[in-house]
Amino acid sequence: MRNTRQREVVLEAVRATMEHPTAEWVFRRARRRIPNISLGTVYRNLKQLAEAGLIREIQAGSQALRFDGNLGPHHHVRCVGCGRVNDLEVPLDTRREQAAARAMDFQVLGHHVEVQGLCPACRPGRADRPTSSEGAMSARQRTHE
Ligand SMILES: [Zn+2]
Ligand SMILES: [Zn+2]
Repeated sequence: MRNTRQREVVLEAVRATMEHPTAEWVFRRARRRIPNISLGTVYRNLKQLAEAGLIREIQAGSQALRFDGNLGPHHHVRCVGCGRVNDLEVPLDTRREQAAARAMDFQVLGHHVEVQGLCPACRPGRADRPTSSEGAMSARQRTHE
């Protein structure tokens, strides 16, 4: 790894939040400590950290890629409107699902459950509902800053 300092700052930014940040969020945070860091550098470091197994990627269709510093087993709830991701505080029992996968002759390597929905800011009838992609962006910033 060429620049350890950049990597450390990026890793700390992801680990310091429960918000499952996007690369742009991490970039804004990392820039406070390394003012000349670029979004490309942040993105590259995030991908390398994910490949190294130090953080997790959360892939969600066309929504921005998000990252999770919490490697322990846990469920997620994701808003299909603004893309925010939160941990679900429920007891985790994955035995049935994993047994079913093993019955299909899969070697189980991991387990991730995601509930999709609309967060309070994105639900119809709410005054602050985002109405465009720009609106969704500002909702994301409201929620995650
Ligand atoms: Zn939302
Ligand atoms: Zn999480």
